[in-house]
Amino acid sequence: MSTIELLTRARRGKEMGIKGAENLSLDWPAVIARKDDIVARWSTGKNAAPTKLGIPVLRGRGTFASPHAIAVGGRNFSADKFVIATGSKPARPAIPGVELGITSDELLHLKRQPRELVVVGGGFIGLEFGFALAWAETKVTVLQSGPQIAPALDDEIREILLAAAKQAGMTIKTNVKVNRIAQDKTIEAEIGGGVEKFAADEVLLATGRPSNVEPLNPRAGGIELDRGAVNVNEYLQSVSAPHVYAVGDAAGKHQHSPVAWYEGPIAANNALKGNEQRIDFSVFPSAIFTIPAIGQVGLTEKEALNRGLKAKVSKLSYDSNPAAGVRAETEGMVKIVYEEGTERILGAHVIGAHAEDIVQIAAVAIKGGLKKSAVGAMHYVFPTIGGAIFDTMAS
Ligand SMILES: Cc1cc2nc3c(=O)[nH]c(=O)nc-3n(C[C@H](O)[C@H](O)[C@H](O)COP(=O)(O)OP(=O)(O)OC[C@H]3O[C@@H](n4cnc5c(N)ncnc54)[C@H](O)[C@@H]3O)c2cc1C
Repeated sequence: MSTIELLTRARRGKEMGIKGAENLSLDWPAVIARKDDIVARWSTGKNAAPTKLGIPVLRGRGTFASPHAIAVGGRNFSADKFVIATGSKPARPAIPGVELGITSDELLHLKRQPRELVVVGGGFIGLEFGFALAWAETKVTVLQSGPQIAPALDDEIREILLAAAKQAGMTIKTNVKVNRIAQDKTIEAEIGGGVEKFAADEVLLATGRPSNVEPLNPRAGGIELDRGAVNVNEYLQSVSAPHVYAVGDAAGKHQHSPVAWYEGPIAANNALKGNEQRIDFSVFPSAIFTIPAIGQVGLTEKEALNRGLKAKVSKLSYDSNPAAGVRAETEGMVKIVYEEGTERILGAHVIGAHAEDIVQIAAVAIKGGLKKSAVGAMHYVFPTIGGAIFDTMAS
């Protein structure tokens, strides 16, 4: 998304005294070519890593032949222990015409930028792609089945996101039941008791990513699944096949790259040395790369209240942050949820420029058990947008 971020920032050049900024547009083939180049460079490094360590790599689709044997390319390989890391795959909802839709992977290979895009699904992948294309002047409509987009967000943060979506020219519809995708890619959907049609030259299917374990033939390995993921304990060990461990999207805890990187060594260690390390997601920061971006860690205000905690809130708008003003990035908010009396920080929710980085300051504070006022009393670099989190903690 960084290309689109640059585009949207550069367009603001006009208000910062730069001529010609309002005429900028996206060169789609160049963007896709650059993405391909970055992916290829990353993959080369990643693919070489096991060989450097003397680990043989077999290329092919593995399937369990028995609890201790994997079949690849007609040969069986046996082992005492296994770690499953087969990731996830995009869901294809049971809608007539679904084969006309594309996944996020396929969208990133399109030769031409869609003029009209309908996104089925208002979760983080649907929203990230929706925002990116909308700011790049594709007409975007997001159809969400539930009452809210990105249901895990704090309500106030979502309101700001919805305002930004409007500014980007997106249409967002909730409580939608998609009936079918017609041959010309028009979507027919039920909304509020009526039927509406949405024209599109591409339909992005963003209705979740179930774990990709089923094709491994888990039954032959005696591996029990829980909603498609390997059912694992806190050691990442299969509850039904103790010689099998699972990590990342295949273990189905959180679908984020750092989770796979964190869990991989834990599972390998536990498989080789016995169950020594437990997974710990007690403090788990995450981001949504919409524009503006969102960073969050811990409980939302509603979650804290639902748990019966004496939750209080401190919040600050980006327009009171001098660095945001200087950079013409004043849309955004920092919101801190804390416990009255103890001042324990329960959650932090940020929307706006650098939200994905700013929230990490709160994550460190929560992990370190710092009180809100202790963070608020810290010295910080001025002028920085990150300074907003210290000012919020001080307020
Ligand atoms: C569009 C999109 C945007 C995302 N953005 C972010 C983001 O901004 N930040 C973030 O943290 N996360 C993001 N994620 C999530 C992140 O990509 C995943 O959580 C992460 O890649 C999971 O890592 P993994 O190792 O579990 O699986 P993967 O990275 O999917 O790797 C699984 C591997 O297993 C192989 N495989 C599968 N089945 C078999 C088999 N039977 N035999 C042999 N090999 C097999 C596959 O080919 C693949 O190479 C995003 C995901 C998507 C789809």
